[in-house]
Amino acid sequence: MEMKRGRCLCGAVSYEYEGPENWRGHCHCASCRRNTAAPFTTFMGVAKSAYRFTGETPAVYHSSPGVRRYFCATCGTPIAYESDRWPDETHFYAAGLETPEDFVPDFHVHWAERLPWVHLDDDLPKYEKTGS
Ligand SMILES: [Zn+2]
Repeated sequence: MEMKRGRCLCGAVSYEYEGPENWRGHCHCASCRRNTAAPFTTFMGVAKSAYRFTGETPAVYHSSPGVRRYFCATCGTPIAYESDRWPDETHFYAAGLETPEDFVPDFHVHWAERLPWVHLDDDLPKYEKTGS
């Protein structure tokens, strides 16, 4: 199985996992938008048994009850997202991968929350909310 790797801007925090991901999508929710300071973010679910951190342990911010957002304590790059709603997986950001050009997203979630100046013409399914 192919090993995929990602890292923060400064390189202190890095990770690797064995694909394929559980899912791959764009999120337009206001929380992810603010956390990443980007109009939307693209991430993937990875089984907790399939990845490991290979550099420094990331810092964690509890953005709401049951939600943990990991980031590099040195450079501030968002690294991962975990929620008690999905106890068996961690979400990593596609733009943090070593080769993000190889990533293929499958859908949009929280489509109704997208910014009015974001115009995307892909044919991917556009969901109003996340499943479950
Ligand atoms: Zn860093």
